[in-house]
Amino acid sequence: MFTRSAKRSAFLGMVVLACSPLTAQSPARAILVRAGRLLDPRTGNILAPAAVLIEDGKIKQVGAQISAPNGANIVDLGGATLLPGLIDSHTHLFLNIVIPPEEERKRHLNAFFAPADLLAIVESPTKRAFLGAQNAREDLESGITTVRNLGHSGIDGDTELRDAINAGRVPGPRILAAGRKLITRGDYLQNLNPALADAILQQEYLFIDGADRARAAVRQNVFQNVDVIKVTADENLTVAELAAAVEEAHRNHLKIAVHAAEKAAIQTAIDAGADSIEHGNEATDEQLKQMRDKGIFLDLTPTAYGGFFLKIMEPSIVVSPETRSARTESGGRRDKEYDQLVQRVLKSGVRFAAGTDMCWWYPRKTCGEASVMTFLNLRLAGMRALDVIRAITVNAAEMLGWQDKIGAIEPGKFADLVAVGGDPAADITELERVRFVMKDGKVVKNDFAAALK
Ligand SMILES: [Zn+2]
Repeated sequence: MFTRSAKRSAFLGMVVLACSPLTAQSPARAILVRAGRLLDPRTGNILAPAAVLIEDGKIKQVGAQISAPNGANIVDLGGATLLPGLIDSHTHLFLNIVIPPEEERKRHLNAFFAPADLLAIVESPTKRAFLGAQNAREDLESGITTVRNLGHSGIDGDTELRDAINAGRVPGPRILAAGRKLITRGDYLQNLNPALADAILQQEYLFIDGADRARAAVRQNVFQNVDVIKVTADENLTVAELAAAVEEAHRNHLKIAVHAAEKAAIQTAIDAGADSIEHGNEATDEQLKQMRDKGIFLDLTPTAYGGFFLKIMEPSIVVSPETRSARTESGGRRDKEYDQLVQRVLKSGVRFAAGTDMCWWYPRKTCGEASVMTFLNLRLAGMRALDVIRAITVNAAEMLGWQDKIGAIEPGKFADLVAVGGDPAADITELERVRFVMKDGKVVKNDFAAALK
């Protein structure tokens, strides 16, 4: 964003900014954002009218009427509704998997995922880095101001993208980076030639094979300066191995997010003391209760809800009538199970957040648009709009351990704000039409400005 003096000498300013983006910024000024309403997801309360005073990228004051300090920039959003920047607590910015044609999938084990993951690893780290940067920008433009990237970014893709965004080199959300995902053997890319596989797999994963290797894998990621540890739990992973990883992560003040979809893996994650369970689709009532009692977060990922595969396959791939009807039927059954999971989660009192598990290529949608669409599946699955908004703001911030930084519009927190034209607590699809985005007190996008002129 240009200051007024920079605008006066726009040409000079452009040259300076282009040459030296890290040193040419003028001293921070106060910004006063005014809007018709402000939604507090924590309480559900609406403040109307609303004003947010921002200094040095942080929220200084929130109130109905705040007079602008001398020289402050005023951003007037008219009757819009402000809410905290959205958080995607489970994404994969460095993958956009194109689902192979039906006939191709039949020919490979694990064929939905493996060919594209393999290509992403071996094709070009540079190409992949640009994909991550594009997805990060698209997320930010849709109002997602923080993401937790849980694996699939090569050795250092997400830590480097995080640092590049923080340094102002490329636009994007705040990133909590997991580095390489910890897995047991046999989980991913099973169709690789074993004589060649290790060199490839080590670019993407760290292997757990016994408690000592689990600890070593965490340390390797710590060396890479990650923000969180991601482990995939399957039937090969023992409680002792995962508990060793948890202990090592906690010793380094990092949280540990465990992919666990099936009942047995969920139990392993609970018993080993994970901080969050990712997906958790088959969690029983007893397991939800154990998670609540141990303070383990459930990170819901409603990715496959509502005919997801047909939605992303059909525009680019001809699907046979048999597959279409089989998918429609199994999708309907899974949706019903998910509806029940959402109700059981709400009833159990377990703390929950939501992530997209975005790693798919959606024709004609940006990463941000597809991600917000995925969040909205929770509403379709029966969660009321306010709870969906909580899951991707205040609850997610708490799960990430960043509750003092993001997730609410409160003094002391980063000025990460979004605004929509209507009332998102009444109509959650408003989130698909985010028209104002601010991160760190800097305006990323403001479609209201044109409307007010
Ligand atoms: Zn995932």
